[in-house]
Amino acid sequence: MIQFNVSDTFNRFLPADENPSNSRRQVMEACYSFVKPLKPSKPELIHVSDEMATAIGLNLKDTKSEAFLDIFSGTKVLDNTNPYAMCYGGHQFGQWAGQLGDGRAINLFEVLHNKQRWALQLKGAGPTPYSRSADGFAVLRSSIREHLCSEAMHHLNVPSTRSLSLMLSGDQVLRDMLYNGNAAYEKGAIVCRVAPTFIRFGNFQIFASRQDVIRLKQLADYTIQHFFPAINVEGKARYIAFFEAVLELTFKMVLNWQRVGFVHGVMNTDNMSILGLTIDYGPYGWLEGYDKNWTPNTTDRQQRRYRFGNQPGIALWNLYQLANALYPLVEDAKPFENALEKYQDEFLKAYMKMMSDKLGLKNANEKLILELENVLMSTETDMTIFFRLLSKLKMNSNKEEAFEMLEPAFYDFKQMTVQVKVGWKDWLDKYLLRLNEDNWLDEDRSRAMCALNPKYVLRNYMAQMAIDEANEGRYALIDEIYQLLKYPYDEQPENEKWFARRPEWARHKVGCSMLSCSS
Ligand code: AMP
Ligand code: MG
Repeated sequence: MIQFNVSDTFNRFLPADENPSNSRRQVMEACYSFVKPLKPSKPELIHVSDEMATAIGLNLKDTKSEAFLDIFSGTKVLDNTNPYAMCYGGHQFGQWAGQLGDGRAINLFEVLHNKQRWALQLKGAGPTPYSRSADGFAVLRSSIREHLCSEAMHHLNVPSTRSLSLMLSGDQVLRDMLYNGNAAYEKGAIVCRVAPTFIRFGNFQIFASRQDVIRLKQLADYTIQHFFPAINVEGKARYIAFFEAVLELTFKMVLNWQRVGFVHGVMNTDNMSILGLTIDYGPYGWLEGYDKNWTPNTTDRQQRRYRFGNQPGIALWNLYQLANALYPLVEDAKPFENALEKYQDEFLKAYMKMMSDKLGLKNANEKLILELENVLMSTETDMTIFFRLLSKLKMNSNKEEAFEMLEPAFYDFKQMTVQVKVGWKDWLDKYLLRLNEDNWLDEDRSRAMCALNPKYVLRNYMAQMAIDEANEGRYALIDEIYQLLKYPYDEQPENEKWFARRPEWARHKVGCSMLSCSS
């Protein structure tokens, strides 16, 4: 039997819903409802993150055991544990949506291993009191996307929830993938997500919206005590310090998204982790052609609220909502306003510093960066390939050589207009001048740049290839991609085929450039 060092806190120290039935309803004065996963018909393990397994104290043999299959498919509940679904609310696409909650996530238990707390949560293991009109299940395609991307983000040094395992449930799930009246059955799947805690901005918002200051305070005190131990002030200052800490973590998360070209796709406040972790992998995507206006989410195609270039601003908007939710604990808006104002000033500075670091420059140069964004947008340019190739540039090259070296990053090199070429060469001229001023050894600059500019990311079409194969019962590509993305900053010559522009077949393919919230 596999052993866990179970150490539950959320469902021990916070108020539970007194109604034990698994019926859909508004849940008042409680942080969660007890609920058991539904037994899947024919669970089958597809993939395990060996690293995550080790992190929670399991070995390879454990992950192949029947007990592992039983627990992480939701077939059996581990003895002396009490699974539950969390109650939270949220702003969806800018509108207050009321109670949402874990509609298809069931928290199993918390584990303490090597002094690190991990909460284990099944996604897609059946309905909960928060399922509203939906079924509580998840399909294979979105589960593969979540499993691979959570682990890939972690290895890119982008704060993220993790994923332990990916299972088939053996049940069929009905989905209208593009919300266009073409519902079809798909394979059901269950992912076990892992994070120190899954608390979101929305967990605080729901109590503030109901003027339930008692529960709001309990949740804030619990969160600070367990996840922000460095906060040692008391009274109202404690909640301000908490807010400032969340702001800082959120800020860092979004800065990292901009660094690697990740577009979350649904930055609703219920999808914002209180620990600043990337959470809820739905219609996310990776920038291939650098475009600040791009969003993979077809549901957001009109407004483009959650487009790449808007992510820092939306994070700030979400932090305003969190400030509103915490306000009753402080009853003074000023400290929140001060923190939020600081975000605006500092984010721009931090962004310029991050871009300068990506460029291997010793000092931030706003003008050069803004000009770069313009040339990047002037012709379809692959973000990942561009920055990685730039790291190989020699200080004594000229602009012609530099431009030629960058050719693999351009989607349509042959059709490029003279004007675009001139724009690029002008920019490269200025950039080379800066490199010469800095006079940093090519080798050292290249090393520093390669630590920030990944060679491999989970390109949208790669996940889709893994999905297409998995739908036919072949799972090898899932592990191949998982292994590749464990070392995204390494050269990995044997994997050069993944350092390539998006193939043309994927340009308009559903799942590659177009994704909806249906999952
Ligand atoms: P999302 O857009 O995935 O963040 O989901 C928004 C809300 O809808 C959350 O409360 C989810 O738990 C819930 N939800 C999404 N899909 C399902 C589903 N298939 N069954 C039940 N609840 C769901
Ligand atoms: Mg969500």
